[in-house]
Amino acid sequence: MQEMTTDVIVVGAGPAGLMLAGELGRAGVRPLVLERRAEPGTAQKASGLGGRILDVLRYRGLLDRMTAVSGDASPKPIFPFGGVYLDFTGLDEIPLHAVAIPQARVEELLAEDAVDRGAEIRRGHEVVSMTQDDAVVIVAVNGPDGPYRLRARYLVGCDGGRSRIRELTGIGFPGNTYPEVNRLAVVAVHESVSVLDDGGIEVPGAGRIAPGFTHTGSGVFALGPVSPEDRVMFFQTTENDDAEYDNDEPLTVAELGDSVRRVLGAEVPFGAPTRLSRYQFQDRQAENYRVGRVFLAGDAAHLLPATGAAMNLGMTDSVNLAWKLAADLHGWAPADLLDTYHLERHFAGGRALLQTRAQAALRQGQDPAAEALRAVFRELLADESALRRMGALVAGTDLRYPMPGSHSLAGAFAPDLSLHTDQGTTTVAELMHAARPVFLDLADRADLREIVGESPRVEIHSAKTVDRPADAVLIRPDGHIAWAAAIDEPSESAAADLRAALTRWFGVE
Ligand SMILES: Cc1cc2nc3c(=O)[nH]c(=O)nc-3n(C[C@H](O)[C@H](O)[C@H](O)COP(=O)(O)OP(=O)(O)OC[C@H]3O[C@@H](n4cnc5c(N)ncnc54)[C@H](O)[C@@H]3O)c2cc1C
Repeated sequence: MQEMTTDVIVVGAGPAGLMLAGELGRAGVRPLVLERRAEPGTAQKASGLGGRILDVLRYRGLLDRMTAVSGDASPKPIFPFGGVYLDFTGLDEIPLHAVAIPQARVEELLAEDAVDRGAEIRRGHEVVSMTQDDAVVIVAVNGPDGPYRLRARYLVGCDGGRSRIRELTGIGFPGNTYPEVNRLAVVAVHESVSVLDDGGIEVPGAGRIAPGFTHTGSGVFALGPVSPEDRVMFFQTTENDDAEYDNDEPLTVAELGDSVRRVLGAEVPFGAPTRLSRYQFQDRQAENYRVGRVFLAGDAAHLLPATGAAMNLGMTDSVNLAWKLAADLHGWAPADLLDTYHLERHFAGGRALLQTRAQAALRQGQDPAAEALRAVFRELLADESALRRMGALVAGTDLRYPMPGSHSLAGAFAPDLSLHTDQGTTTVAELMHAARPVFLDLADRADLREIVGESPRVEIHSAKTVDRPADAVLIRPDGHIAWAAAIDEPSESAAADLRAALTRWFGVE
């Protein structure tokens, strides 16, 4: 067994692992990604990206690559939220946007980006065991040419909900597995089935099946038209089942047919499928996102009991972690910088669990108490500020990391201001493409620029913007604001806080 040494091993080439690999590359670290599957995954999982991750991708210049294959990001005026709908149509600004792109395409584009930035991706290499001490992590890998060992300074488990890395570190993953199993298909119906004008179908021997949701004693059945002229329909069943399924194991048409028979009591003859997915909800969060030199990100760290947020959350974990790991490897990380990964991302995962658990509570039960909960919730949503707040929670745009400093921007994601500089116009998003710390002076504050000027690590930009939200901001590579000076804030107090932030985040003495 030969042993090689590398800086960072990323276990798993899903969205979290590939995003991490690209981000490490941007920060000057060349990671090694180990993926047990020999070929990229084809299972149909997430069908889009939404919320804050779109801004993050734009701040890296990656969003254009995604929209080039999927079409532009579009507002989501109606969002299904656990059996009720968040209807944003009456708001001046829709708080949630999404890009309809299949997860497999997201992974393909992220893999390309990671390789362009120097990452090595080894497919067909499964990590089977791992040990660590104060200086190094050692893994045993089964590769196509047999077993081998690797040493690394850090390892990140991006190996999904059943994470082997999490198990090997002994990190607890408390929570629940929900009893409902969802089977979802976009599939043509056999020519013996009539597709009706109202979106329903007429099945020989079973009669008319209505579109929309049908609740039966055995579960919930949903039907809708996708491309009725081609006989292509959307089917979904939800039924309780004691078995625990692997989300990576594909659903078959036969299994879908069995489920429709159990839930609806009807035999529907299917033709060719274009989408088949089975998914079960879990509600879990790793007790710690870090043990020594080993970190967890993505589904390995959290599983959410509603759709639409998990992939986005995992990719954002990676953006938070990469620059911190790189800072450590480059030798300038302040002592507790790596610990802030757990603090910040466990907090962010908690916010995502909050809204998805609320969805789980809202969608369960058909009794009067459950109906009353949904009715009260709908009433509250008639209030615009409550609706806006829910939109921001679902999109993850309300996330503000706990941060010293009283400015309301401290800890928040930097707004994408239009900037006028001596060289022309630009935006905050463009300044963040290089993923470096940025000091943005919006009020010609030579007193503050001079302090930062002593640090080689921070890019300084001076610009003017309409209605500046602060005199100056210090932006971390992940786009979050580490410090902000209030408008006309006196030099003494602003300078002291700025020095403290430069030391805390970028190791500037
Ligand atoms: C049907 C379905 C629909 C979904 N819809 C949505 C949605 O609409 N929106 C959304 O945001 N999310 C959705 N999700 C969730 C989303 O797919 C996951 O959150 C996402 O895949 C998590 O990414 P990840 O990189 O953390 O883990 P994964 O994508 O699970 O990747 C983990 C990788 O690690 C590899 N691996 C595991 N163990 C090892 C090992 N020991 N050695 C080497 N490699 C290993 C695996 O092969 C895998 O490639 C859906 C999921 C399913 C199943």
